[in-house]
Amino acid sequence: MLKLLRKIVTEVRAESDLEKVLKLIVSRIQEGMQTQVCSIYLKDSTNQRLILRASQGLHQKSIGSSLSQHEGVVGLVANRAEPVNTDDIEHHPSYCFIPGTGEERYHSFLGVPIIYRRDVLGVLVIQQYDGRRYKETEESFLVTVSAQLAGIIIHAEASASVSPSKKQQKSQVDRCFIGVSGAPGIAIGKIVVVSQSADLDSVAESEVEDVGSEVFSFEAALEHVRSDIRVASARLAEKLGEEERALFDVYLRMLEDNSLAGEIVKRIMAGSGAQWALSSVILEHTRQFDMMDDPYLKERASDIRDLGRRILNYLQEDGPQSIDIEEGSILVAEELSPAMLGEISTDKLSGLVSVKGSGNSHAAILARSMGIPTIMGALDLPYKKLSGRSVVLDGHSGRLYLNPSQELLDIYQAQLDEEREEEAELDGLKLLPAKTLDGVTMPLWVNTGLMADVQRALDKGAEGIGLYRTEIPFMIRNVFPSEQEQTDIYLKQLEAFAPMPVTMRTLDIGGDKSLSYFPIEEENPFLGWRGVRVTLDHPEIFLVQIRAMLRANEAFGNLRIMLPMVTSINEVTESVALIDQAILELTEEGLNIVRPPLGVMIEVPAALYLTRVFAHQVDFISVGSNDLTQYLLAVDRNNPRVASLYSNFHPAVLQALKYIVKEAQKENVPVSICGELAADPAGALLLMAMGYNFLSMNANNLPKIKSVIRQSNFEQVTLMLKKVLRLNDGELIKQEIDRSLAQMGLTGFIKPRN
Ligand code: PEP
Ligand code: MG
Repeated sequence: MLKLLRKIVTEVRAESDLEKVLKLIVSRIQEGMQTQVCSIYLKDSTNQRLILRASQGLHQKSIGSSLSQHEGVVGLVANRAEPVNTDDIEHHPSYCFIPGTGEERYHSFLGVPIIYRRDVLGVLVIQQYDGRRYKETEESFLVTVSAQLAGIIIHAEASASVSPSKKQQKSQVDRCFIGVSGAPGIAIGKIVVVSQSADLDSVAESEVEDVGSEVFSFEAALEHVRSDIRVASARLAEKLGEEERALFDVYLRMLEDNSLAGEIVKRIMAGSGAQWALSSVILEHTRQFDMMDDPYLKERASDIRDLGRRILNYLQEDGPQSIDIEEGSILVAEELSPAMLGEISTDKLSGLVSVKGSGNSHAAILARSMGIPTIMGALDLPYKKLSGRSVVLDGHSGRLYLNPSQELLDIYQAQLDEEREEEAELDGLKLLPAKTLDGVTMPLWVNTGLMADVQRALDKGAEGIGLYRTEIPFMIRNVFPSEQEQTDIYLKQLEAFAPMPVTMRTLDIGGDKSLSYFPIEEENPFLGWRGVRVTLDHPEIFLVQIRAMLRANEAFGNLRIMLPMVTSINEVTESVALIDQAILELTEEGLNIVRPPLGVMIEVPAALYLTRVFAHQVDFISVGSNDLTQYLLAVDRNNPRVASLYSNFHPAVLQALKYIVKEAQKENVPVSICGELAADPAGALLLMAMGYNFLSMNANNLPKIKSVIRQSNFEQVTLMLKKVLRLNDGELIKQEIDRSLAQMGLTGFIKPRN
């Protein structure tokens, strides 16, 4: 059965046309399960009817007939979202006969729902003549097949909607793909797809005019790979026998002109870009081999894939492909990474879309800091086919509209104009304090990473840097920056803000922040080698960074150092020892070093319970609410599937945040927050009422937070906090927040939040 399942899934995955996908599914299941009928009913989202979309066994003329979702046993399966298995369908209380299908001949019926992320897409049915109940093993097999096929059907549906037939084109306007908000804002423009390097699956579809030069680059890449294989074969001559070395000849033969290579060249000659021609040919061949039962032949799929990757590597040899970005483009990538954002010129971009990742991914945080509207986790987006397509990107709700109608464009253009006006109004707040109507002041600091953030932060009236993510300049390089290079980078941040404080976090790599020149491969990176765990294991990296920070601070004296991902007290004592060592070394070198204040980030539940112990040891506490939420709720901040479970307003998160303040206050140590919650209007007010000493956020949100604070009353905000802390359900908390904001007359700041 498992074999059959794998075979069906592999075969179906290779097909992107929805009708063909459905036909393949019904015919393979009918044949594989040796039953007389297999049919698929899919729900029509406009009228909610269940339509017979494909069948092997029922009369083909009945394809297209439909049932209301409350009709028949099929309707029952969809409604209850559970299987129905009966040997006597005609006497089932929900039975409803659809004339013209020919189903009156079949007595046994097994229907299972097709469910994708809680939504019932339709029903998969098998039927047979003799009145025997399908066995439990058959039922569980059909449930398994259906669960696997749901995602494939969704993808095929999405693909069908981006390349609709002429007839469908008219009805395909405003096709909406749903992700999560990465950075708020609206963008209207054309898509540019960026491929990940040497990943055959993520090569974007491309067409070229200069066929000659594409063939030339392909042949050059091919020759490189041929020569690599010959070299590898010769190198292993002593270690391998003749027979094993013959494998290399097999590789070389695959690359001959009348084999794979010839096929790829043919495709380029027909107008495909070299990378696209290569990836499509290679993937087609691997799918064919993948489907074979013979294990030896199956293995050939990985040989072909490997060859494909090698050639692609050479085609992309000059590093990431240069991306031609026109003014107003919307960049789409399979997985947007912080490094990618560092490499491209973001000035011309009006929006970003990432198929993977969530609003809490570091790429999204960077996008927010740059003020680029962004959608993350648009899992169903058939992104490879979208180059040049017109879209509307709604970064507030995480919705991407493909092929927008004039009506939709007008609505969004009006909203965009309004937001620009609002932004201009907020600019007037720059020199005013973040002070409530009843006189309570809340200092607003910023989070920085790129040098561009610094100027933007100053323009918005920031009073300090609460988090400088030092790993960002590390990410946009090819090797670790030297001590002098780091000193120069840090100096700019300190100088720009002096005498205002600048909090530099020591290198926080690991998790989703990797350095190409220091790869960390782990099964579970967010629970792995991250932040201070890495730098304590590499004192040479830590010491260089601390020395550079201290040297840069010599002239300004406004540095604060902060340690990320601290879990245990020994991590603080070991870090302090290394900082002492750096101070001693630099003093011996004749520099006038002043010990900067040291702080720890509370990001891990263990650290939360040690807040008071840490507060006793350090000069300040800063809460990294992004990670703290992830670890408290056990929800991967990068995983779009669980993005709806990630909530800063979960009662446990709010209780934890309050607890940290209370504990830090017992030691008279200032406590701040530098996670994204500080940039949320309601979050900022609640944190203020909890007693946080300052809030640090991305510069783009600062004016809005200042505006909400200036329009609020501390007494009322304290009341809101009291009410919220009494509630133990996230949904009720959100409702209470909205109600309280409305009562305070702050309706403009109510936003959909998760
Ligand atoms: C946090 O975890 O809240 C934080 C500020 O750090 P980062 O988002 O860089 O992990
Ligand atoms: Mg963090």
